[in-house]
Amino acid sequence: MSASPNAETIDIAIIGSGFAGLGMAIRLKQAGIGDFLIAEQAGSLGGTWRDNHYPGCACDVQSHVYSFSFAPNPRWTRMFAPQPEIRAYLEDCATRFQIRPHLRFHHELDSAVYDEAALRWQLRFANGKHLSARVLISGMGALSRAVWPDIPGLDTFAGKAFHSQQWDHDYPLDGKRVAVIGTGASAIQFVPQIAPRVAHLDLFQRTPPWIMPKADRALKPRETRLFERFPLLQRLARARLYWMLEARVLGFATHPALMKSVQKLALKHLKEQVPDPVLRETLTPDYTIGCKRVLISNDYYPALTRENVDVVTTGIARIEHDAVVTADGVRHPADCLIFGTGFHVTDPFARGVVIGRDGLDIVDTWRDGAHAYLGTTLPGHPNFFMIVGPNTGLGHNSMVLMIEAQVKYILRALQAMRREGADAIEVRAQVERAYNERVQQKLARAIWSTGGCKSWYLDPKTGKNTTLWPGFTWRFRHLTRRFRMADYYAYAASLKSSSANTEHASVAIPSTETA
Ligand code: NAP
Repeated sequence: MSASPNAETIDIAIIGSGFAGLGMAIRLKQAGIGDFLIAEQAGSLGGTWRDNHYPGCACDVQSHVYSFSFAPNPRWTRMFAPQPEIRAYLEDCATRFQIRPHLRFHHELDSAVYDEAALRWQLRFANGKHLSARVLISGMGALSRAVWPDIPGLDTFAGKAFHSQQWDHDYPLDGKRVAVIGTGASAIQFVPQIAPRVAHLDLFQRTPPWIMPKADRALKPRETRLFERFPLLQRLARARLYWMLEARVLGFATHPALMKSVQKLALKHLKEQVPDPVLRETLTPDYTIGCKRVLISNDYYPALTRENVDVVTTGIARIEHDAVVTADGVRHPADCLIFGTGFHVTDPFARGVVIGRDGLDIVDTWRDGAHAYLGTTLPGHPNFFMIVGPNTGLGHNSMVLMIEAQVKYILRALQAMRREGADAIEVRAQVERAYNERVQQKLARAIWSTGGCKSWYLDPKTGKNTTLWPGFTWRFRHLTRRFRMADYYAYAASLKSSSANTEHASVAIPSTETA
């Protein structure tokens, strides 16, 4: 696809304005690069922290670590900040680092097609706008496309139905019969909030999660004052949390036997909070802790002990106009269905959205599961960079650490390209393959594959873990610390004609090692 005549031209297009897109924009600006924009599908910024605003939505990683290293916030009100504070933090960063002029709201990406002749990405947006960009950076995240399960009869339901990501605060839940489907990280946060308000809540649990106590507390005004006056103290608090969380990798990835003692703590938490042995049995997972994301909560189990809450474990057979019907034929009447059923993590891009060289859809490139070099670049997709790409997810520490490492790597790539006079780069297939073989070898031994569970970490087609980074975050930072041009093909555009229909030819230029 060639550029539309009325396409706006930009050097760098970033898609998405969550932690990833915003972090990238801030670092570009700080590096003196100004020819970029952020295309954001919604009317405001914040990504997952704008979209998810269900009752009780909060971070399950301590906020001193779940924030940019270059923008500490001394004013978090809790150890685990609630969603409105995190969203406000991102808004504040956009203002503080002067990113607002680069934001284009209501720009939902329809398609990004690589134009080999021009060495550019041609983007089309749902609002009809066209854009031609040399570099395309995806900050679209892995938790943005909601999963609506394929349950027979769902379309016949006559009551209210919504996904946790699209919470309808105008719908009065008070006094209603509510069916919640799913018991993941989102559901365990909103169930305790709505249980006291509804007449009855049926919680449809397919697999019980492992839940640990949440060491949450309000941060004291004295702490805030100290952090404001002595930023070094906040950096130390962040470092302490970082290493505490980082140590958990030992159990997840290198010595899964260590998870036994963690599991004992979780069982103790369950026993203390759920006196009824039958309910306790229902809530006890049959896989090793850590296999699925370990959740933290102090109010989820108590909510399930309420008189007006039932945990239903029989599978859902169908949905009728006013009820959920389970496989045993029991009808569970409902006025409202709430889906806490998660996101399309292993297939983050819909078909037709990202088309690389030779018209190859990224969906087909990832037929056998998503993969990328350092979770960032992909053969066949020149000048395309992903943040929070394949195998960069974490089950043990803050994603912002991975995002910042990827952002720095991309920045180094752009700087190396400029130095070497390359208009486009494309990772060498053998480099990417060898990297992924090493990642997959490590993952095969980790608890996520050996713990006896099915999770969204694993690609449903191949069973490969295509989402998580298999080790310490400092190891990923180390790998992304240098950009090696030798890992890439480099192309330069040589001008053939200066007419309006300028044609560019791509030629491989010699690529030398670049730090
Ligand atoms: P999730 O962890 O994927 O949980 C989805 C739940 O829905 C699971 O319990 C799953 O059961 C169930 N489910 C899916 N399809 C179903 C079906 N057809 N019938 C019955 N049950 C079904 O989704 P999530 O809770 O939205 O969380 C997603 C991720 O978002 C988290 O893992 C986390 O990374 C992130 N998150 C983070 C925070 C935070 O505080 N930082 C908060 C919320 C979410 P199975 O387990 O049997 O598949």
